[in-house]
Amino acid sequence: MHLSDLTWQEVSDYLEARDALILPVGICEQHSRHLPLSTDTVVAEYIAEFLSEKTGFLVAPTFNYGVGLPCDKVFPGSTTIGWQDMRACLTAIFDWWNSQGFKKIFVITAHGDPFHLKALRETGHEGVFVLDLYDIDLTDILEKQKTVKHACEAETSVMLYLFPESVRLEKIEDFETPDDLMKQYLSHSREDAIPGSPGCQGYPSSATKQKGKRIVELMKRHALAWITRHTTDLGDT
Ligand SMILES: [Zn+2]
Repeated sequence: MHLSDLTWQEVSDYLEARDALILPVGICEQHSRHLPLSTDTVVAEYIAEFLSEKTGFLVAPTFNYGVGLPCDKVFPGSTTIGWQDMRACLTAIFDWWNSQGFKKIFVITAHGDPFHLKALRETGHEGVFVLDLYDIDLTDILEKQKTVKHACEAETSVMLYLFPESVRLEKIEDFETPDDLMKQYLSHSREDAIPGSPGCQGYPSSATKQKGKRIVELMKRHALAWITRHTTDLGDT
């Protein structure tokens, strides 16, 4: 159920019984040559729908810009905002929701940039809970990577499972930047393009639908446990 599909009176009725809202946060970010710029957004929205079905909580309109790597500027369409700007914008939105009676805001994102997460976590609102969806143990599922990287074995598997029509299979290409160099890009201390990179980091050629199914199931379990932990206002399901 979506907040923006309701009238203000219906939202008012909802607030008589509930005080929680789910906010998917996306980003318009390059995901190499084989995945769309919406990759992180559609995964967050998918999990938001799942959580809404399980809890009866409303899903707010997706906040669809985030903080990405400065080196991605060379990839057309990839869009980033500063983390302080993002925090200011979210703080303003949360102020409104808080004053209307939304006391708990469950923010979920599939984009793990540390500055992006910092913007989400430092709005200063007490009832805001933030979940990084890929912050799960993937070691038993992945073969070529230990953790999620970018447009990689993990992210491509998830897309093959959830939105196979979005994956340009013939464009899949592995690419690995050495860890020490990658750290400089991840900390935003280097802004030049990563030499030779098609946009991914990791091994998308090892992605499978089956791995994606297992990752999504793990994500769902983890997200549901998280929202349950933070609420006493669960629905019947
Ligand atoms: Zn991603």
